[in-house]
Amino acid sequence: MAASLREQIAREARAAFPGECCGLIEGDCDGVRIRVTAVHPTRNLAKENDRFEIDPIEQFALLRAARARGGEIVGCYHSHPNGRVEPSARDLENAAEEGFLWVIAAVDRGRDVVHSAFLRAKVGFEELPETKPLGPKPILR
Ligand SMILES: [Zn+2]
Repeated sequence: MAASLREQIAREARAAFPGECCGLIEGDCDGVRIRVTAVHPTRNLAKENDRFEIDPIEQFALLRAARARGGEIVGCYHSHPNGRVEPSARDLENAAEEGFLWVIAAVDRGRDVVHSAFLRAKVGFEELPETKPLGPKPILR
């Protein structure tokens, strides 16, 4: 993921603090690598500070727009205010789609932001180092 896109997520994570920011990740996947082309902030419908819920209407609109550009929604991102840079138990419950990319941005007291990327695997999440290929089989699409 380009540094400018990471920085965009970090800015949103700071702005939403102490709540969570959230959004969708547009890109494409050749079966080996996910290439992120854009990040799209969405409203967070959750009322509690420690959770997020992407607006399904925005999600649908972004999906259509991405497809019109020849892309795909390959993942989502959200922040963990004063939290850990790994998916929570609730994230695991909400992550139904295998192969979906999850970027978590942990915000320390509203300032420092640490990102990490995970792929929803059959069981749990798999941390995704930026340079690691996904494997021989197409995972997305
Ligand atoms: Zn979370």
